[in-house]
Amino acid sequence: VHSTLCYLVIVLAVMVAHMAVSSQAGRCACAGQRPSSRHGMGSSLRLVACHATPAAASSSSSSAPSTSGRNASARGGDDLGSNKVPVAMTMTADVYAYLLKHTREPEVLAKLRAETASVHGSHMQITPEQGQLLALLVEVTGAKKAIEVGVFTGYSSLAVAMALPPGGKLVALDKDAGTMAMARRYWQEAGVADKVVDMLGPALDSLNKVLETEGPDSYDFAFIDADKRVYWQYYELLLKLVRPGGLIVVDNVLFYGKVADPNVTDKATAALRDFNERVMKDERVSLSIIPVGDGVALCRKR
Ligand code: SAH
Ligand code: CA
Repeated sequence: VHSTLCYLVIVLAVMVAHMAVSSQAGRCACAGQRPSSRHGMGSSLRLVACHATPAAASSSSSSAPSTSGRNASARGGDDLGSNKVPVAMTMTADVYAYLLKHTREPEVLAKLRAETASVHGSHMQITPEQGQLLALLVEVTGAKKAIEVGVFTGYSSLAVAMALPPGGKLVALDKDAGTMAMARRYWQEAGVADKVVDMLGPALDSLNKVLETEGPDSYDFAFIDADKRVYWQYYELLLKLVRPGGLIVVDNVLFYGKVADPNVTDKATAALRDFNERVMKDERVSLSIIPVGDGVALCRKR
């Protein structure tokens, strides 16, 4: 009787432990519901991050990381160990939905996002919290002249143009006439068309042209979001164009988690790894890579 009781107690304990693990795992973004299609690939990084670190995900759920554990990670002072993931990479679908709920997205930007949802490549659009960040950065740097490489249907350009002061100017570069037409329509609708100058054509050509005509140190703010394979070339040209103290913001530097997955070897991923390696060592800028959206590098020209 005694050993049967012992056995029952062990079985019960195992069941309870199993339930705890499942409920934790259910909170992972990869198992959870996506906040809504409106946000496109916004949660992709978190999805990939979850899948890319199964050991971390399962061990953190079985050890049920406490809130204090997460805070400790966020503080960065404590040893993360080999099996814990910093707080931003463990973003769950629920937390992301909460973040979006507390993100300001002007109506015209929400409308552009909705219309872009049916456009091929809509996943390339920056997320609402990224748009809000770009606008804040434009304000913080006091930028008057900005330049964007990779406009698509215009979301990021519109976020930047709306944040620029009256009389401010954004030069918007893209090679696609169709999506540029849509962007133009939204600059008009938002009443910022007078601040935006678009340049159609290969971005490297356009950047060289701008550098030739306007000279070095002539811009305050730049956003890179076009061909990942030539990010470094965009960056070098923009480093000339932007004044000391100006900011170069680079999108997709975590590339849906692919940069951290050694099994991924495509050219775009390799180029982003190369970019991240080089920019880390580049003493010409102050640097911070932040895990917002698909990963954003903030580079302040010294
Ligand atoms: N920032 C945009 C998304 C950009 S998507 C947003 O928030 O909505 C990437 C864009 O880069 C596409 O519109 C594509 O046409 C453009 N692009 C890619 N390669 C390019 C090149 N070599 N020259 C100019 N534009 C390019
Ligand atoms: Ca992008």
